[in-house]
Amino acid sequence: MNNFTYSRASSVTDAVQRASSDRNAMFIAGGTNVVDRLKVFLDEPSQLIDITRLEMKRIEKLPNGGLRLGALASNTAVADNADIRRDYPILARAILSGASQQIRNVATVGGNLLQRTRCPYFYDTAFPCNKRQPGQGCPAISGISRMHAILGASDQCVAVNPSDMNVALAALDAVVEVVGAKGKRQIPFTEFHRLPGNTPERDTNLEPGELITAVILPAVSFAKSGVYLKLRDRTSYAFALVSVAAALDLKGDKIQDVRLALGGVAHKPWRSPEAEKFLIGKTAETTTFQQAAEIALKSAQPLSHNAYKVELAKRAIRRALTVSAKGGGVA
Ligand SMILES: Cc1cc2nc3c(=O)[nH]c(=O)nc-3n(C[C@H](O)[C@H](O)[C@H](O)COP(=O)(O)OP(=O)(O)OC[C@H]3O[C@@H](n4cnc5c(N)ncnc54)[C@H](O)[C@@H]3O)c2cc1C
Ligand code: SF4
Repeated sequence: MNNFTYSRASSVTDAVQRASSDRNAMFIAGGTNVVDRLKVFLDEPSQLIDITRLEMKRIEKLPNGGLRLGALASNTAVADNADIRRDYPILARAILSGASQQIRNVATVGGNLLQRTRCPYFYDTAFPCNKRQPGQGCPAISGISRMHAILGASDQCVAVNPSDMNVALAALDAVVEVVGAKGKRQIPFTEFHRLPGNTPERDTNLEPGELITAVILPAVSFAKSGVYLKLRDRTSYAFALVSVAAALDLKGDKIQDVRLALGGVAHKPWRSPEAEKFLIGKTAETTTFQQAAEIALKSAQPLSHNAYKVELAKRAIRRALTVSAKGGGVA
């Protein structure tokens, strides 16, 4: 392991200045992903910049009715927040389906957005991996691909984004607020994470040194009927094979608006605008939901071991939309 320094940032400006002037610096928040990565030499930073004492923990109501989640709010604080439980239950349920209570107590909003793929080849440095070292190759494509992507992958990388929270945030049209050397900017959630393409080493569109300061949840009409359905090998403490965040806004039985996002199927939380467009104006019923599921999965390209995900995702979409049409709740 390389020697590295550890220090606490005294302010957002201090954190950003230090990270922007040293390409090998890393932020550490809850540390639940960073420390795992350091232990297997996935990351070898020159310095760890501890951001946990910065003023970024608050969950605040916005004048327009939305919410601002500070990047250092813990996963537990977000899932337990009364406004979130009432107005954005889809987000609370997604968070509570992940990890364990102990991990959620220290894991933060910003860190959850940036946790890296759980592709086993990525974590095992005995294997080559284009995400660790571009140009090395991707052993997952011809290897064990049970957990890997069926949508939006490339011949460089077939990894999936592991976060549950990300799927709910994609469905909620969240916005990520970041500060970098050039100042503040906001990134719509659907543009925050990337598909692998020819740059599988990049998970997001963050620039080097940029710090996530908050996630904004807009006030949206469909959020209360939100459903998060996570399918996994065990009922606890496992990452999603497939997950669905679905939310419907109904007038009678007619669909006025809808959001549909999938997890466990792509390098980023996968929104399906085509399926959403198809659903608007239709009657909320099983055949319609089935047709939407077919549309959402029509470009799926499974690997040797993960064709099961295509049918699993279709069934999960149908079930999540059915529960959402009944007002939401646990799917
Ligand atoms: C056993 C186990 C099971 C898990 N199961 C699940 C699960 O089922 N579902 C799920 O979604 N997650 C799961 N997780 C992942 C967990 O949710 C993440 O590790 C956690 O959310 C990361 O948050 P953190 O604050 O600890 O991030 P850290 O580990 O501190 O940081 C993660 C990354 O984010 C960067 N970073 C952190 N904060 C910022 C910021 N504000 N701005 C810029 N960069 C930042 C760090 O540099 C690092 O690259 C599991 C983790 C473990 C260990
Ligand atoms: S899928 Fe991506 S992360 Fe996994 S081995 Fe291939 S390049 Fe690496």
